[in-house]
Amino acid sequence: MIQIQHLYKTFGTGENAVHALEDISLDIQKGEIFGIIGLSGAGKSTLVRCMNLLERPTSGTVIVDGKDMTALSEKELRLARRNVTMIFQSFNLLMQRTVLKNVCFPMELSGTPAAQARKRALELLDLVGLREKADAYPSQLSGGQKQRVAIARALATDPKVLLCDEATSALDPTTTASILALLKDLNEKLGVTVVVITHQMSVIEEICSRVAILDGGVVAEQGKVEDIFSN
Ligand code: ADP
Ligand code: ADP
Repeated sequence: MIQIQHLYKTFGTGENAVHALEDISLDIQKGEIFGIIGLSGAGKSTLVRCMNLLERPTSGTVIVDGKDMTALSEKELRLARRNVTMIFQSFNLLMQRTVLKNVCFPMELSGTPAAQARKRALELLDLVGLREKADAYPSQLSGGQKQRVAIARALATDPKVLLCDEATSALDPTTTASILALLKDLNEKLGVTVVVITHQMSVIEEICSRVAILDGGVVAEQGKVEDIFSN
C-alpha cells in the first residue's frame, strides 16, 4: 500500500542542514497496522508527513496505492490526500463547529451534497460511538471523544490509509486503550491500512503487526513486532 524507497529529507542548507531522514526504505502492506517507533527527534513526524506529501522529500520516492506521490501536481495531491488522511496528538478539530459539522467538513471540501454528507457523517459517528454528541461542540468533549471525532472526520473521504501521529500521546492509559481498540476495529471492519507513530512501546505491542524502529533519521530495524521485541 505504501512503498518508500531511498527517502531523504533535509531541512535547511549548509551549516544549518538537519538531516531528518536518511535513506529510508519501507514497504507497508495493504490492510496492516504498521508501527513506527522512536525517540523524540528521531524523524517520525517527518516520515509520516512525507507519506501524504505534507512534507516534500529531498529525494526518494513515496508510492501510495500505486501512485508516486512525489510526481503529483498540487492539484493532484489534494485529491490523493483524501486517500491518505491523518490524525494528530492535538486532535485539530474546528472549535467553532459542532461534531457533526467537523465530520462533514472534508466532504464539503470535496463537493459532496450536504444531505449526503450529513448522512455519512452520522454513520461515521455511529461507527466511532459518538452519535449522541453530533450537536455538541469540541470544547464539550473529553480528549478521547475528541480523538473519536477526529477519526470519524479522517474516515469521511473513505481513505485507504489512516496516518496516526502520536494519536494517543495526550490521553490517559484507559482512553488510550479504547482508542487503540477503535483503530483495530476500524482496520478490521473497513480494511483501512493504519500507520501508527509513537514513542510508546505499549502502543506498538497493542495493535501493530509490523514495526520500524527509527533512530536519528535511519531505520535501525524493521520486521514483525514479535520478532523485534521478543526477549
Ligand atoms: P519526531 O517526530 O521523531 O520527534 P521529527 O520528525 O519531528 O521527529 O524531527 C526530526 C528532526 O528534524 C529533528 O531534528 C527536528 O528538529 C527536525 N525538523 C523537523 N521539522 C523541521 C523543520 N520544519 N525545520 C527544521 N528542522 C525540522
Ligand atoms: P513532534 O516531536 O511530535 O514531531 P515537534 O514539536 O518536534 O513535534 O514538531 C512540531 C512541528 O514543528 C512540526 O511541524 C515540525 O515539522 C516542526 N519542527 C520541529 N523541529 C523544528 C525545527 N528545528 N525548526 C523548525 N520547525 C521544526
